[in-house]
Amino acid sequence: MKFGSGAAILAAVLMVAACRVSDQDNAAQPANETAAIAPILATPDANDIHSFARPLEARVHHVALDLTVDFDAKRIGGTAILDIDRKPDTKEIILDDKGLEIQSVTDRSGEQLAWKVGARDANLGAPLAIALRPDTRRIAIRYKSAPGAEALQWLTPEQTAGKKHPYLFSQGQAILNRTWIPTQDSPGIRQSWEATIRVPAGLTAVMSAPRSAEPITQGGESVFKFRMDNSVPPYLIAMAVGDLEFEPLGPRSGVWTEPAMLKAAAAELADTEKMIDAAEKLYGPYLWKRYDMLVLPPSFPFGGMENPNLTFLTPTFIAGDKSLVSLIAHELAHSWSGNLATNATWSNFWLNEGMTTYATTRIVEAIYGPKVAAQQIALGVDSLSDEIEELGGASVPDTRLHIDLKGRDPDDGLTEIPYEKGAAFLRTIEAAVGRERFDAYLKGWFERHMFQPVTSAIFLADLRQHLIRGDKALERKLMLDRWVYQAGIPPNMAMPDPQAFAEVDAAVAAFARGGAPDSAGWGRWTTDERLRFLNKLPRKLPKARLDALNQAFGLNDARNMEVRYAWLDLAVANRYDPAVPSLEQFLTSQGRRKFVRPLIKALAADTSWGRPIAARVYVRGRPLYHPMVTRELDELKLGG
Ligand SMILES: [Zn+2]
Repeated sequence: MKFGSGAAILAAVLMVAACRVSDQDNAAQPANETAAIAPILATPDANDIHSFARPLEARVHHVALDLTVDFDAKRIGGTAILDIDRKPDTKEIILDDKGLEIQSVTDRSGEQLAWKVGARDANLGAPLAIALRPDTRRIAIRYKSAPGAEALQWLTPEQTAGKKHPYLFSQGQAILNRTWIPTQDSPGIRQSWEATIRVPAGLTAVMSAPRSAEPITQGGESVFKFRMDNSVPPYLIAMAVGDLEFEPLGPRSGVWTEPAMLKAAAAELADTEKMIDAAEKLYGPYLWKRYDMLVLPPSFPFGGMENPNLTFLTPTFIAGDKSLVSLIAHELAHSWSGNLATNATWSNFWLNEGMTTYATTRIVEAIYGPKVAAQQIALGVDSLSDEIEELGGASVPDTRLHIDLKGRDPDDGLTEIPYEKGAAFLRTIEAAVGRERFDAYLKGWFERHMFQPVTSAIFLADLRQHLIRGDKALERKLMLDRWVYQAGIPPNMAMPDPQAFAEVDAAVAAFARGGAPDSAGWGRWTTDERLRFLNKLPRKLPKARLDALNQAFGLNDARNMEVRYAWLDLAVANRYDPAVPSLEQFLTSQGRRKFVRPLIKALAADTSWGRPIAARVYVRGRPLYHPMVTRELDELKLGG
């Protein structure tokens, strides 16, 4: 771990305070240990309203877990040992707890420490306050997760590809890890960690960290050990347990998945090593050693999750033709934006996702060429416009990059805004200063902020210091504050290439005028071109026109899940009965939030035609969906 010299200067400018709050603390620990403790930001915009922790008084800097995975009880239990850093006069440390069953809390010498769980908030869980003695620097908590812990999804053998073994995976982002790890669950409180994981013999545990020892199987149990030496935001601690096999893809990459999916997954991921090389050229060395991936069962609620060393992926990206692998470029790019420089709070989420979305198309361009990248940018801008409309228009506060989440769940901010408006902002800067200069700037940004939390204010100050450098005309041209703090899209946005989809757009116009579907075109088009076609069609179409499309392109049977989704979205909007069996199969065979949520919501909102379908589907699909998906859909009161 190293900190660039620029970081120290910026730290002084922004009143960044390291949490090593006294010289006494420094003296008490070996220098090499304290050097690895990431700073805590002290500015008001870095105050995390989604955590009960008070890290400037006492903070966790290392977590050591020793946990047993109990598939029968659907619980994880054992010990978490926390190394803490604290002000000498601090009387307690506050952790985040959501439903944990705490059995005991002791200090290094085994003495009991007093503890108390405070009032529970529906979104945040509750504060776990632990009394500290003057010399307490290590705490051991014996505990169990609750059977309904939201971070954990327990799958029955029937819900896996192999159908023989149960499966468990965790999803920490945004504030779910407090349901299985008692720590300070705030992205601004970076922690190194290690884990010993005990699972039933025959199953394999993987985590978002390198293995620190070879697994041992003994007495009906297999034991796996992991260690993450870099400090990470705690939402990046992740685990999966199942019948898993590994296939190497290159010198520093490989894929884990169930044996039945291994060949298809490895084939789809064949370009991974090239992507790592392309990303390093843009943003500097890859600092996490290996880049492995885990392809999960279809319940996984996201496209991917950038868990360090081990990206978690939905199997729905496997199309057989690598046409959806920009997902890998996205998760890989998070190795810099998100995992090195991390949003200090969830209001700053766009710094993770906007930068990553921008970097994704840069990696895609390096490998698949400028035309593919230009098309993906145009699709992104389309989805940005749709999202703004969906949110209620360009003056709605939730269209701001720096979003206000007071009293809300961080998942409320999980829209296209942080992703696509964030990326559009960065493309606008790139267009204004030139690619070469902006690339050099971004590389420097990651160097200056590696292994640190960042905020919108830090980013804007850094831009002004290292890119704008007092150029008043450039400052006016960029409209930085308007982009970050105001609603809607500023007028200086760099627009996507209007010719990116010239042929497809002509085909849409011809169909809208009453022409026959362009079968020859469809056969030639890439997935992105097909998506553009479906998304740009008039949203209201009579049955005969939908019949024509379905017959010409085989849409009810589309194997590409993005294409299938785009079609089903159109079908639901038109109450198109012939698509219903395809719709039901789609919604009961995978649990990706991006697909499931809008379709079920649209069905439920259509009280006469759609709602009965939604109710039928939800009863069957719900056991497959992750708690973070059902939490929202349960509110529709569909039963199931
Ligand atoms: Zn992302």
